[in-house]
Amino acid sequence: MKKLNSIKVPHNKNTKDCMIEKIPLPPFVKIPMLMNMGSPCNPIVKIKDTISVGQKIGDSDALFSVPVYSSVSGTVKAISDYRISDGSLCKAVEIECDNLQNISDSVKPSEINSREDFVKAVRESGLSGLGGAGFPTHIKLNPKNKINTLIVNGAECEPYITSDYRIMIEHADEIIEGLNFISKMLDIPNVIIGIEKNKPEAIKLFSEKLQNINNINVISLPSLYPQGAEKVLIYTSLGKIVQEGKLPSDYGIIVINVSTVYYLNVYFKTGMPLINRVVTVDGDTVKKAGNYLVPIGTSFDYILGYAQCEKDKINKLIAGGMMMGITVYDINQPVSKINNAILAMNKINIPKEIACIRCGRCMNACPVNLMPMEIERAYKKKNTEMLLKYKVNLCINCGCCTYICPSKRKLAETNQLAKLLISSIKKK
Ligand code: SF4
Ligand code: SF4
Repeated sequence: MKKLNSIKVPHNKNTKDCMIEKIPLPPFVKIPMLMNMGSPCNPIVKIKDTISVGQKIGDSDALFSVPVYSSVSGTVKAISDYRISDGSLCKAVEIECDNLQNISDSVKPSEINSREDFVKAVRESGLSGLGGAGFPTHIKLNPKNKINTLIVNGAECEPYITSDYRIMIEHADEIIEGLNFISKMLDIPNVIIGIEKNKPEAIKLFSEKLQNINNINVISLPSLYPQGAEKVLIYTSLGKIVQEGKLPSDYGIIVINVSTVYYLNVYFKTGMPLINRVVTVDGDTVKKAGNYLVPIGTSFDYILGYAQCEKDKINKLIAGGMMMGITVYDINQPVSKINNAILAMNKINIPKEIACIRCGRCMNACPVNLMPMEIERAYKKKNTEMLLKYKVNLCINCGCCTYICPSKRKLAETNQLAKLLISSIKKK
């Protein structure tokens, strides 16, 4: 099997046997109007409105936007400003729950008789990629080119996170049903489900269920990080390199996260849009680590309370995984569509940086063949010409370079700052 540069990281999949558990309803939710790559929605409800579960509360005419729905029934208490992780602001709708969970009349399966109906329904599902990138699913599933292969990303290579794994184990039939429907609607002849070989139960389960289905195959991926990165997954599965400036669809390929397929199938069958998600909660301050089904908009604080976290011992709170997650500074932050994990850590090793020894390990670890040490030098000089020459924009922020560096340089973080520098200059 072919592979790009990658590294071995400890798996720490402590919650792999924790079945998905629905948490009790929180007293209120705060639902951001931007939870995907692209444009924010505008709230379409107002203060004091009575809201039901699955009711649309935000939408936009922008192509790269995805509607937002309420995860609870209750009353709108506020429409506030909310700062997202890149520092920009969007609106958030704050709803006090009435504990009735009345379902909106709008929740009913769509009639899908054509490809246009299908793409419209995918947008109305409220789904954007649940693996973390948040790419609008209706854009991904409406490619210009003919698609020959749909790759389902079941790698879940990030340490600690097991939410995709639990969905695969507990909802395999629904995932297969969703795949059959998507491949039929887009006329895709070949479907591959890629699962890392550190998840043998999931590989066995899908292999057995797919015995008599010819067009869907399971492949066992190496347990290396970042196996779930789109370009890495495509190369491992098909041996194809997605060149700079190209999309997977230019090669007749779509990659979709396994949980996204599951939730799409829920929408096709029931009409219930994305209103909750499975979040792995773990870390050495959490006594009841697990995989929790939480309404979108629930605060980290409430979820950590349910997971019996010793909150006063948290030294680092992370939304997502150890490698690609984002440090959270406000424990009241709400869960968004793209949060697949919350890690609340006490013992965390943040080593002191020392000078680069020019060993080249960061370069050898980079799955997209960048030179992180040179990017760092260029960034220090604020030399955007060199940053472009070193193609910092191709960085997928996997963190392999930072992890492997013996001098503990904060290379991945520097790359993010370098990208922001370039985009700020382009905007001028
Ligand atoms: S791995 Fe660290 S020390 Fe080695 S070349 Fe890269 S930045 Fe320098
Ligand atoms: S964070 Fe960027 S530069 Fe570093 S290894 Fe990953 S892709 Fe390469």
